Amino acid sequence: MTDISDLIQPLVAFRRDIHAHPELGFCEHRTAGRIAEHLRALGLEVHEGIGRTGVVGIMRNGTSGRSIGLRADMDALPIHEQTNLPYASTTPGTFHGCGHDGHVAMLLGAAQHLNRSRNFDGTVHFFFQPAEEGQGGAREMVREGLFERFPCDRVFALHNWPDLPAGTIATRPGPIMGAADKFEIRLEGRGGHAAIPQDTPDAIFAAAALVQQLNAIVSRRIAPTASAVLSITQIHGGHTHNVIPDLVTVSGTVRTFDPAVQDRIEASIREIAAGVALAGELTATVDYQRYYPATINDAQAAQEALDAAATVGVAQLAPDPAFTSEDFAFMLQACKGAYIWLGQGKPEGATPLHNPHYDFNDDVLGLGIRLHVALVEQHLALSLQ
Ligand SMILES: [Zn+2]
Ligand SMILES: [Zn+2]
Repeated sequence: MTDISDLIQPLVAFRRDIHAHPELGFCEHRTAGRIAEHLRALGLEVHEGIGRTGVVGIMRNGTSGRSIGLRADMDALPIHEQTNLPYASTTPGTFHGCGHDGHVAMLLGAAQHLNRSRNFDGTVHFFFQPAEEGQGGAREMVREGLFERFPCDRVFALHNWPDLPAGTIATRPGPIMGAADKFEIRLEGRGGHAAIPQDTPDAIFAAAALVQQLNAIVSRRIAPTASAVLSITQIHGGHTHNVIPDLVTVSGTVRTFDPAVQDRIEASIREIAAGVALAGELTATVDYQRYYPATINDAQAAQEALDAAATVGVAQLAPDPAFTSEDFAFMLQACKGAYIWLGQGKPEGATPLHNPHYDFNDDVLGLGIRLHVALVEQHLALSLQ
């Protein structure tokens, strides 16, 4: 068993310091500075400013050409913390409500341990990414050539998971987190008198037909064995009783796991909007935005993660993906790897992520460090020389 007991207490203090000084996406200047300082103190090669505020540390050992990437996210959320903890946020309205403070501490702990044990042959890349919460910090790092500059055979990320008990580590091959898309459809006509419908294309009438038909996409165009959600969440149009408005907008969200299903839904929305507009003598404009793709684990990497997890805790094959989304998806599009849930629930229950009373459970800090170390020692095993 990897002995990291001496590392825990200082890392808990470090984690709580990050917690007390949270920073929003792409503004993680203090956090990134502390991370870079920590990595330099270990003697690692450090690169800053990747994806704006991202930090990369490189640790080499031995002679093999094998390499592995480990990611921690650094950003906090725009939530007002209500924990009353002694180390609560000192920045009103900004809060580590997703446990990224814990992710940073665990990855730094792994760097500390690997730096002294050196029980691997190859290169470890430590990726500290900005702006996971909706702004695509991982996408920025990948766009700036993350995997060209720091090539990896595998990339892994841990996320603390309150729904699983502390000590349990879960992942699955294939989809683990959903893709999140949003759409807005503008139905435009001329507008006119409500009493002269024969001369006025009716955007309200067309919007009603559009809502009906969009809601049939999942049931009629997607296989019953696939999963998808399409929800229409806004309709805007009209301002008085005797005018047919010239514009109605219909907006909503789509959640999927399979890119082929996602493509089919987007194409269907465009076809139906065009058809409804044609029938109603209107024009339709569709703005469809895919902000996070589905997070898809490589099957072999997911098995490697479960194998490593079994050496440090209770490894569990997750039966289902979650419909929430995660921008580590962009790293997995560029490099084979897996996203892993680190259980952090307590016997009395756990506060969910993004709740103002949430706090990272420091009891799992050691397990997260050991899991990172096990992933490295397994993938870059000395015996494979
Ligand atoms: Zn989050
Ligand atoms: Zn998170």
